[in-house]
Amino acid sequence: MTRTENTSKLKSESFDLLIIGGGITGAGIALDASLRGLKTALIEMNDFASGTSSRSSKLIHGGLRYLKQLEFKLVNEVGRERAIVHYLAPHLVHPDKMLLPLVKDGNYGYWLTSMGLSVYDFLAGVSPEDRRQMLDEKETLEAEPLLRKEILEGGGLYAEYRTDDARLVMAVIQSAVAEKACISNYVKAEDLLVSKGQVVGAKVKDLLSNEVFEIKAKVVVNATGPWVDEVRSLKEKITGKRLHLTKGIHLVVPRAKLPIKQTVYFDHSDRRMIFAIPRGNVTYLGTTDTDFDGDKMNPRVTLADVNYILEAVNYMFPEQNIMLKDVLSSWAGLRPLIHEEGKSASSISRKDEIFNSDNGLISIAGGKLTGYRKMAERVTDEVANRLEVETECTTDEHKLFNSSFKDYAEVETEVKRLEKNFPAFAENPYEIKYIVHNYGKVSEEILKQAEASLATENSEVALVLAELAYTTENEMVCSLQDFFDRRTGRINFNIDSVRRTKARVGAELANTHQWNASELTEELRALDEVLKERSSFD
Ligand code: FAD
Repeated sequence: MTRTENTSKLKSESFDLLIIGGGITGAGIALDASLRGLKTALIEMNDFASGTSSRSSKLIHGGLRYLKQLEFKLVNEVGRERAIVHYLAPHLVHPDKMLLPLVKDGNYGYWLTSMGLSVYDFLAGVSPEDRRQMLDEKETLEAEPLLRKEILEGGGLYAEYRTDDARLVMAVIQSAVAEKACISNYVKAEDLLVSKGQVVGAKVKDLLSNEVFEIKAKVVVNATGPWVDEVRSLKEKITGKRLHLTKGIHLVVPRAKLPIKQTVYFDHSDRRMIFAIPRGNVTYLGTTDTDFDGDKMNPRVTLADVNYILEAVNYMFPEQNIMLKDVLSSWAGLRPLIHEEGKSASSISRKDEIFNSDNGLISIAGGKLTGYRKMAERVTDEVANRLEVETECTTDEHKLFNSSFKDYAEVETEVKRLEKNFPAFAENPYEIKYIVHNYGKVSEEILKQAEASLATENSEVALVLAELAYTTENEMVCSLQDFFDRRTGRINFNIDSVRRTKARVGAELANTHQWNASELTEELRALDEVLKERSSFD
């Protein structure tokens, strides 16, 4: 998909549906609507997934803690969605066993957990071989020897799924584009077009060319996550329900500093739950849940956030002694929750909600990455209703772009096959897995291109440049951060590779986008700023 072609279509054509916001919610709606034959456009003011959808815990999970809050319907829906989203993209949403250590005076006692996890499996429709296993103290320590022994009372091992949120958004966007959706990043809705009291499109600005133009559509959906109230208030005074933003952060440490065998979900002293999640050569830790009222574009990880997480981790894994200097990278995201009077950040429901404005604007907020498909179904049903067309949601059967693996076993076989065929990239045990998890069915193509440049480049540069070639051509990469943050996740999970390859990648991207020397310098400066923000804290 080329951005130039798409922006020119946005200017000249009119659409059944315009979606504002290119996070997982907007992407999901774009795919659902296009599959139902609606002529669909989507604009994103920054890069795809640059809002909350690249800053989550990256789990496709049923939300065990919602069971504790007695939100059975939510657990039932998102629990079942896990299996569907796994089926849609088995390389991108893969099974991940979680260990819940039971500790003295903790949130979860043995019998409650045993029953709770069974209910959780039942509500989520988990297959018999994947159902929860309750462990005694010794078995829990065998599963995870680094845990603090003296407080352990046992554990529960249960099934969840893990993903890369920004790659999931990209797979959904590409699937929508394959169904003829017209999509562009770096196009901001600055105002809504209104005719006879009804919204009929948006006045937008192409932030790369500074051109202002109008997009006409019969229905407009506001899927702007943390910005939902801003877009709603362009043409109405907001009364009643509004957003409540809370910030959550994650820290990345070397896997060697916390070499856990699987994801561990454990108690903090304030009774909140914390994740430690191994991934490639690192382990990431999160999250916090604090009220937020700052710059939505750039929520920051503070030293207090870092200390909060490290305190919990060092208590639960007492031999590890993880320090500030061990933190390689980090990210902070904002939960766009629906405000509930008198409720604290952690206790607000994660349910989604649709707001229908009198002027016809449909806004959607709340929810989770995991439930994106069902949220999209509800919104698209509403859109189809407005357009008086009879349609049915088919996204539960539509495999995502580059995702036509039968199941995860087939993904694992593909990893092994490529490791054998491309030994130069298999020296790092996680590299080929990373490629397959990120790019699915086109992994071999990317590896072949990388292999072809091994005569002149080292294997890391060769691979990064091959990823760049693929993503620039197919995934609308407009900046160094788009590439290193959202397309590859390298700023999060392999920040040193960014430092080592940024000059080469910058030179290539300057060629593609015809940046002059000062534009390239500015791009590199902006990337350095991001690298600094993500790895230093005050
Ligand atoms: P966003 O991803 O923020 O997308 C909205 C987009 O709209 C943005 O990209 C923004 O740039 C764009 N936009 C705004 N204004 C305009 C405009 N005027 N014109 C054009 N574009 C505009 N969920 C899970 O299922 N699993 C998890 O493990 C999980 N962990 C989480 C951990 C944290 C710390 C947080 C914060 C959330 C987590 N979630 C998780 C929730 C999940 O990440 C969010 O529900 C989801 O990403 C929200 O997606 P969205 O598309 O609604 O919003």
